[in-house]
Amino acid sequence: MSAVPPPYASPVREAASAAALTDDERSRILAKSAQFAPPSAVLPDGRRELVGLSREELTEILLEIGEKPFRTKQLWHWIYHQGVTDFSRMSSIAKPLQEKLAERFVVSRPQAATVQTSSDETRKFLFRFRDGQEAETVYIPDRREDRGAVCISSQVGCTLSCTFCHTGTQGLVRNLGAAEIVGQFMAARDSYGEWPSPKGETPRLLSTIVLMGMGEPLYNYENIAKAMKIIMDGEGIGLSRRRITLSTSGVIPMMDQCGDELGINLAISLHAVRDDLRDELVPLNRKYPIADLIAACRRYPAASNARRITFEYIMLRGVNDSEADARELVRLIAGIPAKVNLIPFNPWPGSRFQPSTREQLDRFANIVMDAGFASPIRMPRGRDILAACGQLRTESQRARRQPSPTAVEGA
Ligand code: SF4
Repeated sequence: MSAVPPPYASPVREAASAAALTDDERSRILAKSAQFAPPSAVLPDGRRELVGLSREELTEILLEIGEKPFRTKQLWHWIYHQGVTDFSRMSSIAKPLQEKLAERFVVSRPQAATVQTSSDETRKFLFRFRDGQEAETVYIPDRREDRGAVCISSQVGCTLSCTFCHTGTQGLVRNLGAAEIVGQFMAARDSYGEWPSPKGETPRLLSTIVLMGMGEPLYNYENIAKAMKIIMDGEGIGLSRRRITLSTSGVIPMMDQCGDELGINLAISLHAVRDDLRDELVPLNRKYPIADLIAACRRYPAASNARRITFEYIMLRGVNDSEADARELVRLIAGIPAKVNLIPFNPWPGSRFQPSTREQLDRFANIVMDAGFASPIRMPRGRDILAACGQLRTESQRARRQPSPTAVEGA
């Protein structure tokens, strides 16, 4: 008996049930993430890093050295509001205690191995961490106002091998710890002299965070969540959840948790509207296909008309930029409070794609816009210093691959 082909084959595979994608999968992802854990926060001389500790952890270690819990508030203020790294400058703390703290603890930053500023004022930092591993952070100033976004990395390298992305050619080295994630933002602030933390709506240059640098943040969820809670704490850096956007390739089981627990904005690296193509461009799609991803967006708790989900769509000439693609895109996201960021492809050494033509970009954008979605074309920033979207990469390598009982996540 021969199979009769259906009259219309959907470009998108059917969605699995939400329940099938949650608890067990989430536990598995968190266990996998632990295999790529950052190094210890204790220095070889025995002193402990204070950046990256939650308030509760900070209180605990202060109690261990015989100090009262109210010291937590004091230290928190100096570390995260004033941006001070030297205990002797913490003037509300008596000298003997300053010395006691300095003997046992440090407040540090990742070291800026290089800092490059583009002709368009985008600034790229290559940060070196205590174990010598490196990741990049980019400050992207707003063209019209005195403010901008800090694009933060979540991992050294990335496990996902998206074919248009330079980071994906590097492989995953390790996850970044909460101290290293918060540290990127704090070190960028140092560079712009933005301490103490401004109160309320006082203008500041480093006004938003996008978790869109190297790595897949939802494969390092626990460290990201801890870091974002520190950054959002109103007595310290105090950045509102509305000013933080996490970009994921679609690690669906962690999306719900991120929305419930952090309530930050969500961006999806979509890049294709057909499963066969997305399987190739974003190999994670083989595990979490488009229909499941869109369903997870529909239930994302922090999305609303005021806080739309961003769909990122990199425009690759002759690959994903047809008008049929644009129409399928608006069909897929219909009813979701969303906007679509169209990203001209930023070439990097060895890449096999070409950017779409300006005419094709405009045609695509118009179809999306006519369907009622904002569809800005994101102008490339910092291209001359390889700081644009998809161009980040470092020389860090995983020292020795540990034999693992299961295959590496993703690709
Ligand atoms: S696009 Fe993001 S998830 Fe994909 S390889 Fe690059 S850094 Fe990793």
